[in-house]
Amino acid sequence: MYKDLNTSVRTLMTPGPVEAEPRVLRAMGTPVLGQFDPEFTEIMNETMAMLRAVFQTENQWAFPVDGTSRAGIEAVLGSIIEPGDRVLVPIYGRFGQLLTEIAERYGAEVVNIETGWGQVFDPQVVIQAMQQVKPKIVAMVHGETSTGCMQPLQAIGEACRALDILFVVDAVATLGGTAVKVDEWKIDAAIGGTQKCLSVPAGMAPLTFNSRIEAVLLARKKIERGLVEPDKYKLNQNRMIRSNYFDLSQLMDYWSPARLNHHTEATTMLYALREGLRIILEEGLEPRFARHAWHEKALIQGIQAMGLTLYGDPACKLPVVTAVSIPAGVDGEAVRRMLLEEFHIEIASSFGPLKGKIWRIGTMGYSCRQKNILHVLGALEAVLLWHGAAIPAGRAVQAALAVYRPQQSAL
Ligand SMILES: *Cc1c(COP(=O)(O)O)cnc(C)c1O
Repeated sequence: MYKDLNTSVRTLMTPGPVEAEPRVLRAMGTPVLGQFDPEFTEIMNETMAMLRAVFQTENQWAFPVDGTSRAGIEAVLGSIIEPGDRVLVPIYGRFGQLLTEIAERYGAEVVNIETGWGQVFDPQVVIQAMQQVKPKIVAMVHGETSTGCMQPLQAIGEACRALDILFVVDAVATLGGTAVKVDEWKIDAAIGGTQKCLSVPAGMAPLTFNSRIEAVLLARKKIERGLVEPDKYKLNQNRMIRSNYFDLSQLMDYWSPARLNHHTEATTMLYALREGLRIILEEGLEPRFARHAWHEKALIQGIQAMGLTLYGDPACKLPVVTAVSIPAGVDGEAVRRMLLEEFHIEIASSFGPLKGKIWRIGTMGYSCRQKNILHVLGALEAVLLWHGAAIPAGRAVQAALAVYRPQQSAL
C-alpha cells in the first residue's frame, strides 16, 4: 500500500534542522538497551560529562530533556517560575517572544523590554531594566535565529549574579557552533538544541544548570511535598511544579546515581546525542568555532559579490545564521521554491515583521561545509538571474573560492 521511505537528499541550509552527521545516523541504528542496564547508565554518564565540556561548565547538572529545544526551555522556566514571579525578558526577535510566552504560561509576571529586530541590546540597558524591575529571573536568547543576531551575555550575567537574579539563556542556536561559556558568563541555566549546531536530529534539548537553580528546585520540592508547611496544602498546590514531564527536580533524581524512575529515556536519541557530542569534542571547541567562522566568511563574501546586502547590524552578527535582504522586486518564496525543486537546497524565510523581507541561510554543524557553501551560492545566483534580478553573474562562487584558496587568489 505505502511505498518504501525514500526521501530526497537535500542540502539543508536553514537554521535547523540541519543535515545529521552520518556517524550520528549510524549510532541511531544501535540496538535498544533497557534504561537501567549498566551499559545504558554508562552512556548517560558519558553524555553528561560531554555536555559539561560543550557548555564549558563545571555544573553537576548537564543532561538532555526529551522533546525539542523548547522542551528544555519549558523545563527550566516551568521548574523555577512560581505564579506571580517577576521575569524580565528582553526581546530582539521571535525567540524572545517564545521565552515570554512560556514564562507567562507558568504564571510569571513578565516584563519585556524590546529593541529593533536586527539589533541586540546594549548590556547597560538590560542592567538598568533589571535594577528597576527587580525580577527573580532574566531570560534571554543568545543567538536569535529569526534575525541572525547574537547578544553579548557576560556583562548581563555578572550583573545578575551581583543582584541575585537567576540568568536563563536560550543557547539553542549557538551551542556547538560558537562559544557558549556558561560558567565564565555567569549563566545559571542554559538550553541547547540538537538539530542546530550539534548535527543531531530534533528530539532532545540538552541543558545545564548550577547550584543556584538547584537550590530553588529543592526548596520548592520540600514545600510541594508538605515538608515545610504541611498544614497549608493550598499554598503547596499553588507552588508545585506544574508539569510532571518537565519537572527538573524529578529529572535530577533520574539523572543522578539514584536513577529514580521518571520517564522512559529516548534511547535512540541519546545514542545520537552522545555521538554528536563525541564528534564535537574530537574536533575541539575552538577549531570547530573557527571552522564555522571560516565558512561563514566564504558565504558572506559570495553573497556580497552577488550584490546582495546582509540584514542586521554586522557588529552583532550571529556567526551561524546569515540573514540576507531579499532584493526589491524579487519574490523570496519563489526563489526558495526553485532552490528546493531544481537544486535540492533549502534555505529559510523569516517570521513576523521580517516575513518576505529576508532569507536566512544557516551554516550550522555538518551542514556547514565547503561543498554546501559553494552549492548554495552558485544555485542562489542562478535562481536570481532566472527571476530577472539585476545582479552580476559569475562572481559569487569566485569570491567564496578566494576564501577557500587564499594562496592561489593572491597570485
Ligand atoms: C530553533 C530554536 C528554538 C526552538 O527549538 P525547537 O527545537 O523547534 O523547539 C528556540 N530558540 C532558538 C534560538 C532557536 O533557534
